[in-house]
Parts: sequence; structure tokens; C-alpha cells
Amino acid sequence: MSFGTRFAPSPTGLLHLGHAFSALTAFQAAQAAGGRFLLRIEDTDITRCRPMFEAAIYEDLAWLGVVWETPVWRQSERMDVYAAALDELKARGLVYRCFRTRRSLMEEMAAPHGPATQVVRAGPLPADEEASLLASGAPFAWRLWLDAALDALGGKALTFEADGAVTVADPERLGDIVLARKEFPASYHLASVIDDAAQGITHVIRGEDLIEAAHIHVLLQALLGLPTPIYRHHRLILGADGKRLAKRDHAATLASLRADGVAPDAVCARLGL
Ligand code: GLU
Repeated sequence: MSFGTRFAPSPTGLLHLGHAFSALTAFQAAQAAGGRFLLRIEDTDITRCRPMFEAAIYEDLAWLGVVWETPVWRQSERMDVYAAALDELKARGLVYRCFRTRRSLMEEMAAPHGPATQVVRAGPLPADEEASLLASGAPFAWRLWLDAALDALGGKALTFEADGAVTVADPERLGDIVLARKEFPASYHLASVIDDAAQGITHVIRGEDLIEAAHIHVLLQALLGLPTPIYRHHRLILGADGKRLAKRDHAATLASLRADGVAPDAVCARLGL
């Protein structure tokens, strides 16, 4: 398959220098390979995504000189595809209901960056406990049951190419990840692997804060019969405090740099591109 990569922002805030670095790194890789570059809007978190941020994504990337294939896919329009994959995993007994609090679940689903703050390996509840929680109307999320998933793969080690080296997947790093819940029908992990495959992405190029995620994505791909792309991780752009830039770093947003009269070339130079 010919080279294809993507930039997949979530429209939950304005893009900043870190996003610019990620988008430009992937875009330049596609150009160097004579391949495809896609932009994908990852708007599964309906509580935090806003149309104005999606509009700003197009404006900021065009200003940077990035060119992407159209039509742009929006994950909010593909929920039935993710639901079908989840149904398949349910039918195979590879997921279970988790009744933890809504808040901790939402945080876990929306923030895939960096190592897991807490790794869950609970497995399903005893049937009677689950039945009474369900009867009480308690809300729940669907988690991947890692033990069952590893069994389903027959203990076969999964390998993938990351940053030029063959790597053995270690899905235990993230544990029983959340795949879905009622008001959030597909987590980042589920939607992202399905769309990378559906869009013919051969190279996933993204920040090194998503290295952990690759280890579980490779497992999801194996379970769902999807191809595994090649992974490349780039360095992160840090703020003055030495921490990864976040949506709260307003000074570093592309919109504010543009408003200050900074030219796109100066942004590239500042990023070392
Ligand atoms: N929507 C994710 C983010 O904004 C995409 C991560 C990825 O490239 O897979 O971080």
C-alpha cells in the first residue's frame, strides 16, 4: 500500500505549537514519500468538542501551508462503525462492564497522552453483582478484558515497527482500557485504530506521549483483524515551564501567534523544521 499518514486533532481547544509540529512533521513525511496526508477530526468527546475549534483547525493548518485530502472524516459521523466493532468484541467475550465513577472514566477516555495514571486489570464482576448494579440503573463503561484478549490471541507475542525498531507489544502498560460508554460511544483508542485502518494509514506519526497507546492499539488491531501501521514518534514541544504544551498555554496558540503578526515560516523555524 502506498504511504499514507494523518494528523488527527480533537477540536477541544485551539491548536498550539505542539500541534503545529505534529501536523508539519507528518505532512513533510508524506511529501518526502510522495504519499497521502489526511486530516481527521477526532470529535468523539461530545461534551468537550466545539465547531469553532474545528473551524480553527482548518484555518490554522492552511495558514501553516499544510494541504490535506478531502473530504475530511469526522469521527462523530462514524459512531455506528465503532459500535459494530464493539458489538463484535462483546460477542466474543472480550469486553466487560465497569461501574467506576463517570468522572474518572471520562478522564481516562479523553486523555490518552502519557503513561496511564492508573492501570485497571479488574476483569468482569461476578454475574450476580453485575446484575444488581444493572438493575439499579448504575451507569457503566465497556472495558477491554485484557486477560481474555491475550487468551484469544493464543499467547502469541505481537510485534510492530516503532521508530525504526521491531518492538514487542506490551498491552499491559495500559491494562483494561475503556472502549465506550453511554454518552461517549467510542474511546480514542477504539475510534483511532478503526479509522487508521479504514483510511489506509500506513504510518502513524505522532508525539512520543502516545508511545504507550501504540502498545494497546497493536492489540486492538490484532483482535479486530486490522493491519498494523508503522509507528513513528516525534519529540514534544515544551512550554517555558518545561512541560508539554497544553490547551491552556494560550500564548503558544497558532491563532495568537498569527494575530501577533508572526509568519508561518517563523513558526517552522522556531520548531526547527
Ligand atoms: N486525537 C488525538 C489527539 O489529539 C490523536 C492522537 C493520534 O494521533 O493518534 O491527541
